[in-house]
Amino acid sequence: MGSHFRTIPAVHRLLEEGSLREAVADFGRDQVVAACRAETELLRQAIADEKLTDASVADECNDLPRRILAQLRETSREAYVRIINATGILIHTNLGRAPLPYPFPASLESYLALEYDVMAGSRGQRLAPLRERLCTLVGSESAVMVNNNAAALVLLLTTHAAGRQVIVSRSELIEIGGSFRLPMVMEASGAQLVEVGCTNRTHLKDYEDAITQDTAALLVAHQSNFKIVGFTASPPISELASLAHRYNLPLFVDQGSGCIHDLSRWGLPHEDTVSELLGAGSDVVCFSGDKLLGGPQAGILVGTGNWIEPLGKHPLYRALRPDKTALVTMDRTIAAHHSGQLESIPLYAMLETSLETLKRRAQSVGRRLRQQGVPARGCSTRAALGGGTTPTETISSYGLAIAGNQELADNLRRSDPSVVGRFENEELVLDLRTVLPGQDKELVSATCRAYGAPQSRQAGGK
Ligand SMILES: *Cc1c(COP(=O)(O)O)cnc(C)c1O
Repeated sequence: MGSHFRTIPAVHRLLEEGSLREAVADFGRDQVVAACRAETELLRQAIADEKLTDASVADECNDLPRRILAQLRETSREAYVRIINATGILIHTNLGRAPLPYPFPASLESYLALEYDVMAGSRGQRLAPLRERLCTLVGSESAVMVNNNAAALVLLLTTHAAGRQVIVSRSELIEIGGSFRLPMVMEASGAQLVEVGCTNRTHLKDYEDAITQDTAALLVAHQSNFKIVGFTASPPISELASLAHRYNLPLFVDQGSGCIHDLSRWGLPHEDTVSELLGAGSDVVCFSGDKLLGGPQAGILVGTGNWIEPLGKHPLYRALRPDKTALVTMDRTIAAHHSGQLESIPLYAMLETSLETLKRRAQSVGRRLRQQGVPARGCSTRAALGGGTTPTETISSYGLAIAGNQELADNLRRSDPSVVGRFENEELVLDLRTVLPGQDKELVSATCRAYGAPQSRQAGGK
């Protein structure tokens, strides 16, 4: 066994090997040396455990440079791999919700006036350049932006309701994927939750009966991700606002999706927009930046100055404030909403793509796939907004169906770039509405590789 250890090449010998000499130029000497040590140590361990025969020790030694290179590539690869989203779900939380508008603004490749007043040459306020624009977007008096909508709610309730009661309907004690549970968020902010009404019906009187000396606010949360249908009732926002104001209380609304435009424009059911909620008398409305706004992850709070201004002054704000990447991309996103050039926001470009365009793309992609022996056929699909918005509605869409098994889906997901579709009735369905138009070519090549992979592997005898 001792002689086996001696067959393992020393690190300095490995470094003379052609491919690893090149690797030093690409990855740096320290990284390559570390990878050599790690792989030779694994081999030494296998020999010590007597897992290898004489012949296989020699094979393993010869294979070392390849394994070292593979390890170097693995550690240097991007941790968050790029994905072609062929699921048809536009706001897919696991895939980063709304894709960011591109290209990134030049200010992100440089220093920028993040907290600097260039006219005065003095220190500025981080949110000041964006506040006015946020206000104009939704017609509010004041606005604050934080890291996400969960942070927005925590900041809102900590500032205005810590140690006091907040009244919420039992139909709105929502859980959103990824550990957002309204009751827990309220608890974390120190506010005491007072539940009123029933799961399907809550009346104005239920709220009124619950108001006490300790009440700090009424809260309405959007029923994201689900729908209560049938025998249901909930008071309109305007009546809730009047009730709250009669008792000198604020009405807070967690709108969630950041709905700015009338969704019926895209054939979806109308949902109250942020402006409509403010117009109906809500004192503060909060929402995410990366859902229907189509921008970066953020939480935005808009409303009247007396409720919004204290938020930016609360010590917790410093812990929840957004970074420059989010602020700059949010500014560009808002500019696109303002100008009406919605197609420059990828989410809206996908939403606005006509069925004819999708069919044309499917024909072209399908033809190229069949030319390479992949049995793809065009098929009608249903896409969905996702992200908890309009949970029961779908949008007509078009894509490709490929007869295959789970292995095809696995291969496709593991390819580079990764392609995620959905499996329906023994077919892999690739919905083109969520595939960015510039990605069709890559979709074809990845699909051909994934389809060919199991056959070539069988041929290789593995
Ligand atoms: C999405 C959503 C949240 C959570 O927002 P994040 O930005 O993910 O923190 C909270 N409330 C509602 C109603 C939502 O739809």
